[in-house]
Amino acid sequence: MKSHEIARRWLDFFSRKGHTVVPSASLVSNDPSLLFTVAGMVPFIPYLTARETPPYSRATSVQKCIRTADIEEVGKTARHGTFFQMAGNFSFGDYFKEDAITFAWELLTSPVEDGGYGLDPERLWVTVYEDGDERDDEARAIWRDKVGVPNERIIGTGKADNYWNTGQAGPGGPCSEIYYDRGPAYGLEGGPAVDETRYIEIWNLVFMQYQLSEVRSKTDFDVAGELPQKNIDTGLGLERLAMILQGVENMYETDQVRPVLDKAAELSGKSYTSAEDPSDPHHADDVKMRVVADHIRSALMLISDGVTPSNEGRGYVLRRLIRRAVRAMRLLGVETAVLPELLPVSRDAMKGTYPEVETDFARISRIAYAEEKAFLRTIASGTERLEVAVQESKAAGRPLSGADAFALHDTYGFPIDLTLEMAEEAGLKVDEAGFRSLMQEQRKRAQADARGKKHGHSDMSVFNELLKAGNTVFTGYDELLTESSVRG
Ligand code: ATP
Ligand code: MG
Ligand code: MG
Ligand code: MG
Repeated sequence: MKSHEIARRWLDFFSRKGHTVVPSASLVSNDPSLLFTVAGMVPFIPYLTARETPPYSRATSVQKCIRTADIEEVGKTARHGTFFQMAGNFSFGDYFKEDAITFAWELLTSPVEDGGYGLDPERLWVTVYEDGDERDDEARAIWRDKVGVPNERIIGTGKADNYWNTGQAGPGGPCSEIYYDRGPAYGLEGGPAVDETRYIEIWNLVFMQYQLSEVRSKTDFDVAGELPQKNIDTGLGLERLAMILQGVENMYETDQVRPVLDKAAELSGKSYTSAEDPSDPHHADDVKMRVVADHIRSALMLISDGVTPSNEGRGYVLRRLIRRAVRAMRLLGVETAVLPELLPVSRDAMKGTYPEVETDFARISRIAYAEEKAFLRTIASGTERLEVAVQESKAAGRPLSGADAFALHDTYGFPIDLTLEMAEEAGLKVDEAGFRSLMQEQRKRAQADARGKKHGHSDMSVFNELLKAGNTVFTGYDELLTESSVRG
């Protein structure tokens, strides 16, 4: 089942259940304090917090999302994209737990010919909130008695994993997640608490049930009582379901992403092997191809939604994505401009769902290609500076200094892994520790800046999770510190 069809079925199903179909909002969230739309619920925040009266009591959407917080996972896990689509259903003071759970089960397990996704119920596991003597027994009972999930496949997990709150006094409540078992070839038996690679999270149901009077941390808060108006917020990863329904190994091999991966393989003359294990000799190259496929699509969708490259905020995220894709292609051995080859392939894979990427392609491609050209110039000029530093260091019989590596990074935008690689080719080590401590200092300055900027955005602290995701940009001036990231 193609991604577009998965989305269509979702909207049809919830529309039959009385939900108003709401088109995806822009990736650039209309909340000025959020960098991007990071979840399906973002456009509905005013309704979920009862600040505004919704024009409908049930809504459904397939929302474009960007999560920069997941950038380091891309290509390494099977399931994290910087861009993805979150399918959701929402109740604003209308139905609650029982309907949310039974809708989800019905849609996932109904036969394909009846409009469902036809998943094998035996492969589904669920979690419910259970933390000490606080337990969402209601949710467990619905899963077990109404739906018929065997008790052993209902896993209790605590506040850290399975409780939603806003980071301050306000609505909060338990979650319940649905996982799909990919089978013994993918890892250890025993459910999602044991192995999140074999058991892959596909859907998160949030039950906004309580009024929290004080929130000291995500896991430490006081419940004042039940909310007068209880809400449902759910999110299913479209690409994760696509990977299951299409029988592929990861989300980068699904129909809207794979063509770019194949093009990257073709351009580099490498074969893609779906390697998942880091000890597999193909793994490093396969990760790079998956990164390229992911980042090219994210860049396409971001520019389509009006973002342009710059040195801060949203534009910086876009710049970083383009640079990482270009860099990955260079490491795969392609040194010429790659975006003119890759971007049209991504456009063609996405235009079925998002026709604007085709109608607006002249503008989108102009911006993307110019950014790549500028980066290639950066690499060219940084290379000269690097060569001088290499000669000097060699003459002095010492490694390339942290200060040199930092200057290359800071002044020329020259990524550290490129410095490491090129220094190594010249038979020279790099004082990486020195480089990282200089980066750390710069990051601290950036964080202090970001904190300074936050006042006046008091609304933002309401959504701690969202803030966390968006905030990475301010600490993210560590261009391409991938494997050996100082963030560990
Ligand atoms: P995970 O634990 O796998 O990182 P999550 O708990 O962070 O996922 P949620 O915030 O619950 O994810 O988002 C709801 C759903 O959106 C998830 O169940 C998943 O299917 C999907 N999703 C979340 N992050 C991503 C991502 N980076 N790429 C693709 N799909 C995602
Ligand atoms: Mg996550
Ligand atoms: Mg999770
Ligand atoms: Mg989740």
